[in-house]
Amino acid sequence: MQPSTQKLLGLVNEVFPSVPKPEGPALCAHQHGCPHCNYLSKALEPYCLPDLSQEALSVVHREMTCLSAAGWRWVMPSYLRRCIDMPDGFVAPEAEFLIYNLGPGEKFRQETAERLSALNGAQIRCLIKFIEWCSEHETWGAECRAEIGEAREFLGSLAAQS
Ligand SMILES: [Zn+2]
Repeated sequence: MQPSTQKLLGLVNEVFPSVPKPEGPALCAHQHGCPHCNYLSKALEPYCLPDLSQEALSVVHREMTCLSAAGWRWVMPSYLRRCIDMPDGFVAPEAEFLIYNLGPGEKFRQETAERLSALNGAQIRCLIKFIEWCSEHETWGAECRAEIGEAREFLGSLAAQS
């Protein structure tokens, strides 16, 4: 593992302690019959532990916009570790989705800020470190350059407020 990767993983472990799963409807962002929220809460029913398995994360990564702020707080410790801690030569597809989610277009900035609102200042700053790590990653740095720039800018604006 590269020293920069090791360092980021250490920071994630320090500022993102595992938290219990939010109960019932608190997990999802939309309460009024959103089919994606319904799917997400059902698919995550078997997963009740603070730490999410790879199977659980693979359910989460396509429906991240339907997780509530409490839901994001629950998944982020495991999710970040999954994105960062991969064997040499492998990438976690979850990372690409997180990059997109952290760099919303103008129209989605408000709701994205709400989704991240249960995270504290140290956690937001750690997400900025994650995005910086992605910009130097040989896959994400090449494939997601524009999105990484947007995420850095958006998270920077959140960090300035916290
Ligand atoms: Zn939804």
